[in-house]
Amino acid sequence: MKQTNISVFIPHRGCPNMCSFCNQRTISGHSTAITPKELDSLLSAQWEHLKSIDTIAQIAFFGGSFTAIERDYMCSLLEVANKYITDYPEVFSGIRCSTRPDAIDREVLDILRHYGMSAIELGAQSMNDTVLAANKRGHTARDVVNASLLIKEYGFELGLQMMTGLYMDKPEYCIATAEKFIELSCDTVRIYPTVILKDTELDLLRQQDIYESFDFDTTVTLCARLTDMFENAGIRVIRLGLHASEDVEKNMTGGVYHPAFCEIVGSRRMLELILSQVKEKGKYEFYTDKRNISKLIGQKGCNREFLLKMGVTFKIKEEKGTLFRAKRLN
Ligand code: SF4
Repeated sequence: MKQTNISVFIPHRGCPNMCSFCNQRTISGHSTAITPKELDSLLSAQWEHLKSIDTIAQIAFFGGSFTAIERDYMCSLLEVANKYITDYPEVFSGIRCSTRPDAIDREVLDILRHYGMSAIELGAQSMNDTVLAANKRGHTARDVVNASLLIKEYGFELGLQMMTGLYMDKPEYCIATAEKFIELSCDTVRIYPTVILKDTELDLLRQQDIYESFDFDTTVTLCARLTDMFENAGIRVIRLGLHASEDVEKNMTGGVYHPAFCEIVGSRRMLELILSQVKEKGKYEFYTDKRNISKLIGQKGCNREFLLKMGVTFKIKEEKGTLFRAKRLN
C-alpha cells in the first residue's frame, strides 16, 4: 500500500518572527489559514480519493509554527484531524506537524499527544548560533537540543529540518549541523538549500552584495555528503529541496532551486560511488538494479558525459538488488 501526506499549510499565522529567508506566502502558495470546516471538507474528499487509489496518508500541518498558533485554533484543527484518524484508521494513519524549536514544551506536547499526533518536525535550520542569529531565527541551537530531547522523551517521531547556504553559513557548519542531528538520533531529516525570495531580508542583503548563497555545484556536493551521513546513521532523508512550485520559480532572486534537485543529488552520489571503483580509463560493464539506471546515467546524461571526459565508456547491465559494481573489459 502506498503512503503519502495530506499537507495542510498554516501560513505564518501566530509567528512572531521574520526569519531572513521567510516569505511564507510564496513557499506555501497560500496566504489564508484553513478553517476547521474547510479541513473537514478537505479530509472528507481525500478519504474517498485515497481509498480509491489504495493509499494511506498522514495529515500533515506544515508551513508555519504549528504549536505557536493561537491555542484554540490549533486545537480546533487537531480535533478535526483526530476525528479522521480515529474513524478511518485504514486511510489516515497519523498526524504530523512542523514547528519551531522554541514552541515546544511539556504542556504543548501533552496536547499533541491527546489528539494523536505521531511525528513532530522542528525547523532547526542550523546548529550554529552565529548562523541562527544572523538569519534572525530567534532561537538557539540549545533550543533545538532541548525540544528534540523532550519530543523523544514523549515517544513522538522526531524530524529535523536544516537549510544550507544561509547568510553567514559555510559548508563545514552544515556538516557540523548534520553531526548534531545524528547525535540527537532524529528519525527523519529534510534538507532545504536556501532559495532567496523577493521581499525577504536575504534578498535585501543580496541586492547590497553582502550575501550570496552557496552556488549550485557546491550545494549538490554538500547535499550528497549530508545524505550519505544521514543514511549511514540510519536516518531517513524525506525531503531534499523545496517542492516544485511556480510561485517559488516566479519569486526567487537567487539561491539554489531545481524541480529535480533530489534526483540531481542522487546522480551525484552515484557518480561518487562509480569513481570509488573506476579509477582508470577504459571500457566497462556497469551492473545496477533497473531502478538505479537513470541515476547512473545522471541528469541529462551528466554522469556519462563526465566519465567520457575521463576516457571511461560503459554498457549498463541490469542486476537485481545491486546498487553498483563495475567490471573492466580491457
Ligand atoms: S519561524 Fe517559520 S513562519 Fe516564522 S518567520 Fe521564521 S520561517 Fe517564517
